[in-house]
Amino acid sequence: RRLSMPAPVKGKEEELGKCVSRILVFVRVRPMSKKEIQLSSRCCVRIVNHRDVYLTESANEKDYLRLNRVKGRHFAFDGSFSDSATQLQVYSTTTLELVEAVLQGRNGSVFCYGATGAGKTYTMLGTVENPGVMVLAIQDLFSKIRQRSCDGSHVVHLSYLEVYNETVRDLLCPGRPLVLREDKQGIVAAGLTQYRASSADEVMVLLQQGNQNRTTEPTRANETSSRSHAILQVVVEFRVRDAATTDIVNRVGKLSLIDLAGSERALATDQRTLRSLEGANINRSLLALSSCINALVEGKKHIPYRNSKLTQLLKDSLGGICNTVMIANISPSSLSFGETQNTVHWADRAKEIRLKVSETNEDQLPIHETDADQAKLIHELQKEN
Ligand code: ADP
Ligand code: MG
Repeated sequence: RRLSMPAPVKGKEEELGKCVSRILVFVRVRPMSKKEIQLSSRCCVRIVNHRDVYLTESANEKDYLRLNRVKGRHFAFDGSFSDSATQLQVYSTTTLELVEAVLQGRNGSVFCYGATGAGKTYTMLGTVENPGVMVLAIQDLFSKIRQRSCDGSHVVHLSYLEVYNETVRDLLCPGRPLVLREDKQGIVAAGLTQYRASSADEVMVLLQQGNQNRTTEPTRANETSSRSHAILQVVVEFRVRDAATTDIVNRVGKLSLIDLAGSERALATDQRTLRSLEGANINRSLLALSSCINALVEGKKHIPYRNSKLTQLLKDSLGGICNTVMIANISPSSLSFGETQNTVHWADRAKEIRLKVSETNEDQLPIHETDADQAKLIHELQKEN
């Protein structure tokens, strides 16, 4: 099945080229689930003009949402998707330009952030009938390569990995945990499978199998753990003729697509809740991601990438020369209002990174392979918040 992609908005590509690094932030609200309807929950979210998000909790404000009048706390993002947005619309608005950039030898990354059940995996992986961003990006990549390369010089490698409980695992070849090493290209997982993909068709199957290898909670054998982060890395190597020297040069572009762990337990920022998390096996990687984002927003010199496996792996996707996209997934239901509010606030903050990140933030500390004490991390976070 071929996909027809809408042309990128004019001028936007140029804009992408001009900025060294920035974060675009989108919000996607999923449809009400059967259960949420059965429990007669109210809709708390309204999307207006594909951009503005209105949140309202109080019962007497709901009529405004229903009557298509808007009232409630207002947020504006680079784009917002209502429950009727298609997977293709989400892909083409958020990720299509990054695929273009990768084919020019640049890096890009897309994160899905939000509470468990908010629609992250649906957005990233999707279903066979409605494939998500990961699959559409690879289909689009292969079709673009077919269109433009006559010499067959493009090589596409896929890696799919998981960070769970500060352990990195290969989802394409499950086995022993992988060790992170620093090399010329940055931080890499040693021994990670680099699957050489030759067509998009094989990819959906591969990714679904990979997803089945994601860690499951011991108590719920069939459910993917809400605490596991899945990272798909697509590396494209190709040769081009340099315009100035007319030499043939090698280029590499990397696209990272990340289905983050559920944010519900990591969002608490007040002291008391943080203390209670101390005993409850907090998701260090997600907390560390949040504190890196805080540090980037505040323009701090030291960005604490080294605090977790996830932030080490994504260092070049956050502060480096990279185009970054965040998709904040939310439920429309009043049952999840607290989580929705937290996610939208987080997204609103992430939006600010693009203004400050251009002064390169280099983390000079040596890598500590052994994890720092959890209590120390919590202490640092308490100071930061
Ligand atoms: P998460 O990965 O954030 O925990 P999921 O992606 O698994 O959440 O979504 C929870 C449920 O909602 C799944 O059954 C999924 O198919 C459904 N869902 C999520 N987003 C959408 C959407 N945009 N359209 C239709 N169904 C959705
Ligand atoms: Mg999921």
